Amino acid sequence: MNYNKRRRLLFLTFFNIFLLAILIACTGLINRCDMTAVIDRFRGNDNAARDQIENDVQAENKQNSTTHDNAPEKPETDKQDNPQQTGTEKEQVQGSSGEDAGSKYSLLPYYKPENASRYEKYGLENPDFDEKRVVADVNIGLDYPFYGLIKEIRNYNDITVLVNKYNKLPDNYEPELEKLEERYCAPGRGAQYLRKEAADAFRRMHEDAKKEGLNITAFGTYRSIPTQQKIWENAINSGRIQEDVDSLNSRGGHSEHHTGLAVDVVINDYSVLDTEEYQWYKDRAHEYGFIIRYPEGKENITGYKYEPWHLRYVGPEIAKGVYESGLTYEEYYVTVIEPNMQN
Ligand SMILES: [Zn+2]
Repeated sequence: MNYNKRRRLLFLTFFNIFLLAILIACTGLINRCDMTAVIDRFRGNDNAARDQIENDVQAENKQNSTTHDNAPEKPETDKQDNPQQTGTEKEQVQGSSGEDAGSKYSLLPYYKPENASRYEKYGLENPDFDEKRVVADVNIGLDYPFYGLIKEIRNYNDITVLVNKYNKLPDNYEPELEKLEERYCAPGRGAQYLRKEAADAFRRMHEDAKKEGLNITAFGTYRSIPTQQKIWENAINSGRIQEDVDSLNSRGGHSEHHTGLAVDVVINDYSVLDTEEYQWYKDRAHEYGFIIRYPEGKENITGYKYEPWHLRYVGPEIAKGVYESGLTYEEYYVTVIEPNMQN
């Protein structure tokens, strides 16, 4: 029995050594296969395993790329070039059909980037208009109907302020005014008020005309925003068509008469055309700083019928510019005054 026991022990010992040898051989193989990632995963170390796999993938890609020499650089260059090429092609296509509004309009000094899509749309709707007209019209707001796009005025104290159907004074706006002496006012029209700059200019103009036997008087000057709104509402309530009312009476906040810079120089019944006074001031008012604000045939821009009696004070320099240009104040404002204000 002892002999048998010893033999079995000896056998087990050799068998264990044999197993150990196999194990060592296997470990060597595992190492050679670089299975650390797998081992890590078994250990629960997923990050290490993932990193290892990623490293392997990168190493593999590197190996592949080196076999193609400069191949990977070329496709990248192509990728960068392609969008540019597409863009150029697009521009060429648009330019040839007149749709490339951006670059065409942006050359103008009064181009506004925020209006880019409106220029494009308006230009397409009006193929006969040149770039200057498209940009000017859109800057005025004419791509919208009157009162269709209203901005609140910020520079309400400027002598050059643009008040119209697209530009509204703040509801609480009240200018500083001074009273015109009675001799400057049309009889029976009550007290008249203007801003100091306009009042002084009006007095000078009146006095100079008087030397020639003419009598230019103020028939209507400052009107408050609530008063104007009431006038407009009364006109609407009288049964007149709103479009007709709008062509003569502005809505509250949209009248130049709120600024104290506008004066109606009507003698009576709003007819001045056949008066000597009109013949005198139509080509002289600008020397005093006034413009005929709503010229004949410009209703589509100003929104008002011809009003030869309505003078607006803008200062002699601007008035001269507007008079000589033959432009409406809207056009002059967006193409000459506004760009200089931004600079
Ligand atoms: Zn007026």
